[in-house]
Amino acid sequence: MNFYSTNNPSNQVSFKEAVFNSMPRDKGLYMPVSIPKLDDRFLANLDSFTLPEIAFYVAKNLLAGDIPDDDLQAIIHDAINFYAPVVELEENVYVLELFHGPSLAFKDFGARFMSRVMSYFLQEGEKMLDVLVATSGDTGGAVALGFLGVPNTRVTILYPKGKVSGIQELQLTTNGQNIRAIEVDGTFDDCQALVKQAFTDPELNNEFRLTSANSINIARLIPQTFYYFNAYAQLLKEGIGKVVFSVPSGNFGNIGAGILAWKMGLPVQHFIAATNANDTVPEYLESGVYKPKPSIQTIANAMDVGNPSNWVRIQDMFKTSPDELSRLISGFSYTDEEDLAAIEKLYDHYHYIACPHTAIAWQALKDWQQDQPTGRVAGVFLSTAHPCKFPDVLPKHIAAEIVIPEQVKKLEGKTKHAVVLGKDFEGFKSYLLHNK
Ligand SMILES: *Cc1c(COP(=O)(O)O)cnc(C)c1O
Repeated sequence: MNFYSTNNPSNQVSFKEAVFNSMPRDKGLYMPVSIPKLDDRFLANLDSFTLPEIAFYVAKNLLAGDIPDDDLQAIIHDAINFYAPVVELEENVYVLELFHGPSLAFKDFGARFMSRVMSYFLQEGEKMLDVLVATSGDTGGAVALGFLGVPNTRVTILYPKGKVSGIQELQLTTNGQNIRAIEVDGTFDDCQALVKQAFTDPELNNEFRLTSANSINIARLIPQTFYYFNAYAQLLKEGIGKVVFSVPSGNFGNIGAGILAWKMGLPVQHFIAATNANDTVPEYLESGVYKPKPSIQTIANAMDVGNPSNWVRIQDMFKTSPDELSRLISGFSYTDEEDLAAIEKLYDHYHYIACPHTAIAWQALKDWQQDQPTGRVAGVFLSTAHPCKFPDVLPKHIAAEIVIPEQVKKLEGKTKHAVVLGKDFEGFKSYLLHNK
């Protein structure tokens, strides 16, 4: 499959190039030149397949031979080695739990698949791949654990000092091997600025083979389609065939993957884009005017995005039918107070502990369902992270009830290793050049 730039459809590259470039030079995003529909028999019998089987079939359909079957199968079995259960909370309300991977966030799907695809494409004897990643918390953990031990790669994570949670920091700083962490005395935006400048610095590019691992990489988007198919499969087993998905959204990669799955033939009735106060997309869906804004800080900080980078992909999928886009997606946005109230309600009604991102998706689903005729349409909200990653945000009596997962127990007693740097580029550059 070739991939084109959303800014210029005649600018086409192979899958390998799209993965290593991450972003086309014209600053568009890569999209597949065609989105092949899956065959009807497969879709009707989804419930007879496991998650890795579904993942293989879906990836093979889209990549169309870019990676030979045996290799693709091996990549998927290695990358998607945890489960994504759909749990019923009440009639027509289900939660799709995407936090059972090593970093306890849905970003494990994208980061683990991408790291293995990159490693696969790195040929014998090629220069080591240096991955630079700025994180506000979840991305860094998923990328670090995704690349940990992957041959011929090295990851440098930049995170803002004092602005990630305790568990997130341990996930970033206790890996060793090919992963190193830099604690930047600044904000997430400062971290991101350092990484961006590194990519345009001639001396660094001469010295290193740099790549970014951010959420716009097409190899992170594709594996996120897998769990939509798998969720549908689990509902089919219960005799349910009508589904809406409510997705907590920041950069809109997660919901973008859901829409890609729909384009491949997954029969989804509707999508709900649930945001925090960063309501650029809900406002667009309401008014038809797309107006990016500076990001606002909230308690659901992995969604603090005022200009969602993956939105252009979604618009691209509807360029010939913009009306269909507004019929398929509804938008809802919530304040921190409403988010906290949703966390309390989830706990009180079902004794379910949700992270602040997840709670927003639940509230949006409930609000959407209010205006719908009753019937057997299953509402599935996506849980994007384990609540233990955000203990300081949750009310104390709820945080005290969190069952600590194995992934966290493994971190206990490990020593943090991070280099502390300022936010000036010269300091960062000098660190990279002196630590080859
Ligand atoms: C990254 C993240 C999101 C936002 O996902 P997008 O694909 O950027 O929309 C939501 N919740 C959590 C916990 C995240 O880490």
